[in-house]
Amino acid sequence: MFEYQAPEDLLKDRIILVTGAGAGIGRVAAKTFAAHGATVILLGRTLEKLEQVYDEIEAAGHPQPALVPLNLESAQEHDFIELTNTLEQEFGRIDGILHNAGLLGVRTHIQTYDPVIWQQVMQVNLNAPFMLTQILMPLLERSENASIVFTSSSVGRKGRAYWGAYGVSKFATEGLMQTLADEVENISNIRANCINPGATRTQMRSSAYPAENPASVTAPEDIMPLYLYLMGRDSLEVNGQSLDAQ
Ligand code: NDP
Repeated sequence: MFEYQAPEDLLKDRIILVTGAGAGIGRVAAKTFAAHGATVILLGRTLEKLEQVYDEIEAAGHPQPALVPLNLESAQEHDFIELTNTLEQEFGRIDGILHNAGLLGVRTHIQTYDPVIWQQVMQVNLNAPFMLTQILMPLLERSENASIVFTSSSVGRKGRAYWGAYGVSKFATEGLMQTLADEVENISNIRANCINPGATRTQMRSSAYPAENPASVTAPEDIMPLYLYLMGRDSLEVNGQSLDAQ
């Protein structure tokens, strides 16, 4: 497990956007960031799930979050522009993005992979993070130090049979992160890195490994040290890295 002890106020006054914040790792990351003082912007496709996370953060007495219901599969340029305008008016800047929303797609041979599902997975896992990052760059540039965290996977570092579009999208995510990190190195206050969560107990993990006993898999709460580290001031010098949460 990545070892890091986050100070309680690590993310005080920071404004952090989390995609896929309604379930799984994103839900726990949003709540963890809020518990460390951040104002979190909860982006996801299912409003009820986002509202539940919102209520939990409020009930815990953490900074009031913001809600952004948005389906990253169908979102168009105008949706991203609208989001940016709203965030600019509301906050004036952004200090972090956790690109966490992800689609597994299907587990099958490349030879038989449904091209429609291929496009969907690429849209959510790769194209949306690209578009979101691009359009939010001006708001990130207004931060004293901004952190962009992409979510990778072990199948995004070494190709593995039947992981199809998912694995390929994660390879591309690593490439996007490296390209961006090289562009911002030394000339900006922005850093970009990847997290590989490792096997984590979520709906996606159960879908990929239906025969596995969920109790044997690490809980999302246990992988939070790396998420906190990359969002906070202790990682200021870290750029262009792909780190393992476990
Ligand atoms: P889950 O499937 O549990 O959660 C994924 C989240 O993404 C959900 O909140 C989901 O929303 C959201 N999402 C999916 N599609 C869209 C969309 N079109 N628009 C907006 N939001 C969307 O996955 P995990 O928590 O397990 O995964 C989080 C990240 O970690 C992913 O990028 C995944 O690839 C990566 N990862 C996970 C591992 C694991 O073992 N769990 C291992 C390696 C990487 P909704 O709930 O409404 O469907």
